Amino acid sequence: MPKLGKVGSDHALGVLTDESCVGPTWSVALPGPLPRLFSYCVPDGARPAPGVRIRVPFGRGQRVGVLWAPVLAEPGLALKCIDSQLDATPLLDTALLDCIAWAASYYHYPLGEAVLAAFPPALRKGGLLSRPGLRLTETGGEALLAEAVRGSRQRQLLQMLSAHPPGVAESELTQFAHAVRQSVLVKEWVERVALPLATGSFQNPAVEPASPKPLNAAQQSAVAAVAADWARFQVWLLDGVTGSGKTEVYLSLIEQVTSAGKQVLVLVPEIALTPQLVARFAAHLRVALVVLHSGLSDSDRLQGWIAAQSGTALVVIGTRSAAFQPFANLGLVIVDEEHDPSLKQNEGFGFHARDVAIWRARSLNIPIILGSATPALESLRNLQLNRYRGLSLPERAGGARLPVISPVDVRGQRMSGGLSVTLIEAVEQHLLAGGQVLLYLNRRGYAPSLLCHACGWVAACLHCDAFMTWHRQSHLLKCHHCGHERAVPSSCPDCQTTLSPRGLGTEQLEDVLAGLFPDFGIERLDRDVLGRKGELDRRLARIRSGAARLIVGTQILVKGHDFPEVSLVGVVDADQGLFANDFRGSERFAQQLIQVAGRAGRADRLGTVLVQTHHPDHPGLNLLLRRGYGFFAAQLLQERLEAGLPPMRSSALIRADGPDAAPPQGLLETMANGLSTDEWVGLSVWGPVEAPLARRAGRFRYQLLLLAEDRGLLHDALNHLDEWIGTRRLSGVRWSIDVDPLDMA
Ligand SMILES: [Zn+2]
Ligand SMILES: [Zn+2]
Repeated sequence: MPKLGKVGSDHALGVLTDESCVGPTWSVALPGPLPRLFSYCVPDGARPAPGVRIRVPFGRGQRVGVLWAPVLAEPGLALKCIDSQLDATPLLDTALLDCIAWAASYYHYPLGEAVLAAFPPALRKGGLLSRPGLRLTETGGEALLAEAVRGSRQRQLLQMLSAHPPGVAESELTQFAHAVRQSVLVKEWVERVALPLATGSFQNPAVEPASPKPLNAAQQSAVAAVAADWARFQVWLLDGVTGSGKTEVYLSLIEQVTSAGKQVLVLVPEIALTPQLVARFAAHLRVALVVLHSGLSDSDRLQGWIAAQSGTALVVIGTRSAAFQPFANLGLVIVDEEHDPSLKQNEGFGFHARDVAIWRARSLNIPIILGSATPALESLRNLQLNRYRGLSLPERAGGARLPVISPVDVRGQRMSGGLSVTLIEAVEQHLLAGGQVLLYLNRRGYAPSLLCHACGWVAACLHCDAFMTWHRQSHLLKCHHCGHERAVPSSCPDCQTTLSPRGLGTEQLEDVLAGLFPDFGIERLDRDVLGRKGELDRRLARIRSGAARLIVGTQILVKGHDFPEVSLVGVVDADQGLFANDFRGSERFAQQLIQVAGRAGRADRLGTVLVQTHHPDHPGLNLLLRRGYGFFAAQLLQERLEAGLPPMRSSALIRADGPDAAPPQGLLETMANGLSTDEWVGLSVWGPVEAPLARRAGRFRYQLLLLAEDRGLLHDALNHLDEWIGTRRLSGVRWSIDVDPLDMA
């Protein structure tokens, strides 16, 4: 029988070091690049269970891992014993473990690494879920009653503990000297206990409570449809135009679920950008709510994680990593802005949070709602195939009308800093009428490149096949692909001529507007601004107060911000999105355009949207502007189906890169040849080709696209590659598999 260490006397819950252990064998998921589980033995007397964290010897060090399942010991094989068990009971239930196993296999990622996604950083490192504390014993209680406690400090300590029967953390008892605590322990008036880490005292964001707006007919029928079918798995696609009040539908459903004591998970693309959503949820829902995202401190993340895992928090709003959050009693999942590509992780564990959430909802047999004004083509396809059920909010809430979107033909027009006379006149007119104006340009910095007009020298990144963006305010040239920065040369390094900016970025647009409209405040919102803590909130406050009447920004503008006074939206450069280099380009462009247009005219003003383009006759743009996203998306989907592109066929992108071009290209060529045999009929192999950004951070990049109608065949091929590559030496070449890739760059 191994000796269990006292809580608080060691770093772990139980100390189980016994070299000659002959206990049961368990498979263990450990972080590392190998896609397999490891076997360890667990001492007799321990209480192993799937989902319990353990610390094990590994190589020369130790690793924190998760017990997976009991396995049969191989005879004659000497196994190492686990060092310690970190949790008394499993932190992840078997349904979640199953989901992680599915995701690791589907996205071809090592299971031991995938499991980590379910834990906050503090628990990944082996932190404990309990803290040492003291509790009054029965003897202590009697002594206190009998007034038998002499020392006044001892009496005060016992009185304090008697007011908190479950116990008080030792860290909160430091006002009592060590000797005092020791003496009451010796007399057995108090005993040591392990206290749960979460005290349940987390607070909702401080907001004024608000009552929900009454629902209109479309909102009511959406709520009623879901509520009529609570008790089973169903994916609902809530297709609501911008400003149609999807949030009210969410809130009403959340209230019903939480009043039944069940939890709700709300996944959003980028929480740091959506303070308004969190504030609205907190104002309307009088239940414990936590927010989970990677911008939180380790300790806040741990507290939120425990609150959700233990069931204390009824509503969890989180970014994509929350898709693997454990819950005590999950009753509903909502994925807001389900089309947003940031729900998918691009590097490492390339899971799509929406698809993981659907898997979990199915395994828990609960409903899931996907909301968007511009649904992803994958979701529209699933609706066509009756895998999803549709809910529609075709009109704006509160009688507001959708904005009128018109192209502005800039061919031959005189332009000032990227703005046509037509757009400048419209801006002036709206400002004078008291409205706010928003100008959208999805390119941060002052200018996308710096050029010598005399000799043609261009500021290019040394490490990438890309130009460096000129950031005038920080006096730097920055590469947006690898992060490389350098000082701005004062003149052309080749011929000493003065350099001139080429192209337009948001910094420059801000300058241009300040020159044209000096009497109106301007705010800029882009990723450069987000880098500074609190800056986004300050800028949003100046916009809401009306102190700023002109707003310039990148796609950050699009993410869930309401600007009720905006009456004009100008899309400065639509051409940027019209001719994208991958097949998802037009879908992305249309989504961004419709979302940014949706910022206009939300309250009682009719909004105007002007779209500057050199291609006013572009058929896609015309269809989008005349008929709206629904028609546009339907046609695009038809084109994809005919071309055999996703979602018609499943896809996976194999990427390889290296310090020289030949090895990664050669590796992918070998793969492509191996998969082009008769054995793989039904599998299309496209490439290898150079990646759109052929060199990044000094590495040459190639890619290979696999497509198959039969998803099983695609995964067989990927498994085959995984096994095959295990036998090869890859000198300096890195490779990865991206299943259902969204970003082809
Ligand atoms: Zn020059
Ligand atoms: Zn670079």
